[in-house]
Amino acid sequence: MVLYGGPSGSQASLREANSVRVVDAIQRYGRITQVELAAVTGLSSATISNIVKQLVERGVVATENTIRSGRRAQLVHLRTQSALAVGVHIAKRALRIEIADASHTITAEKVLPLPTDHRADTTLDRAALLISELTDEMGVPLDEIVGIGLALPAPIDPHTRNISVRGIMRDWEETDIRHVLERRLGRPVLVENDANAAAIGEYLYGNLRGYSDGVYIRASYHCGAGIMLNGKLHHGPHGIAGEIGHVQVDPLGPICQCGNRGCLNTVVGADALIDLLRVSRGHLSLRDVITLANDGDPGCVHLISDAGTTIGQVVANLITWLDTQRIVVGGELAETGDILLAPLSSAIRTRPLLGYDRVSVVQSALHGTAESKGALALALQTFSDPITATSEVA
Ligand SMILES: [Zn+2]
Repeated sequence: MVLYGGPSGSQASLREANSVRVVDAIQRYGRITQVELAAVTGLSSATISNIVKQLVERGVVATENTIRSGRRAQLVHLRTQSALAVGVHIAKRALRIEIADASHTITAEKVLPLPTDHRADTTLDRAALLISELTDEMGVPLDEIVGIGLALPAPIDPHTRNISVRGIMRDWEETDIRHVLERRLGRPVLVENDANAAAIGEYLYGNLRGYSDGVYIRASYHCGAGIMLNGKLHHGPHGIAGEIGHVQVDPLGPICQCGNRGCLNTVVGADALIDLLRVSRGHLSLRDVITLANDGDPGCVHLISDAGTTIGQVVANLITWLDTQRIVVGGELAETGDILLAPLSSAIRTRPLLGYDRVSVVQSALHGTAESKGALALALQTFSDPITATSEVA
């Protein structure tokens, strides 16, 4: 295993972040020597040498000898064909699939709407079918996929890789998700919580780049958080770290799916928000509420803004525990931009200990793909390294 558990976790995710920087630089400059790579990335020549060696083993880059300023040097360039991995995000109402090669370049993507309360068997069937169709269109046989990363909106047990808490995703919790998808596709599968996957996505490609202690907040139909501690994703032994949707914000509030009372999800979850609009607006979907808020509807702006304050208060407590440097906010509610983010940020920054200069709060820059991109990166990292792949799949 690479990113999960063990003392090597933070080193592994830092190495992956550095690999992404190196590959970005090679993409930008074409053929480039290792000395030049060190200069443009700011990494040491020893680090560059290790990363290039690993990228050669993975089939991402090739090297050739050359002469620069009268001295021998090695030119590094990208190989056109390399291993592919798949990232899948199964959310409450949509399924997103992305395929990338080992240089992390996206080569195919697809989004499909899902019905409310979709079932594990039919949705996993759909995901498997779409992956097969996409690889067919690309003319790539399924065996050239090194592995699949699947992000789900539920806490995932770090050992069994199945849903670890009952009541959160009915029907799915009875399913051995990883094995069902592995049987359908014949390729190894890794299952991860979607906010955790998104934290990795932001750490590698988005607004957590360069932050060893950052948190991704997923403000969607429900709330969740993915926590990076010292450059490493933090799961906790039961996989429930970052389940901020189940932090109590109202001791007399409604009973939550988890059995607790007045959890954050019962106050800012989609059902709670839609209920509050029912008297004046009738039945709306979460998508309607977001569109209306962005169009300036005062009731919907008010509602999202209050949700931002409540989420911000929970996140402020989380930051006080963890001493986080940066918060990235994604999920459907974040599509309202400052309507959600300004009050959320304000609830954090008015805490004297946290202050204005200690924590930055920004919107995700990955447009709803942080979860699938993070799942993809986890699959690429776990399965494209032959030594770690055997221990993960066994
Ligand atoms: Zn709860």
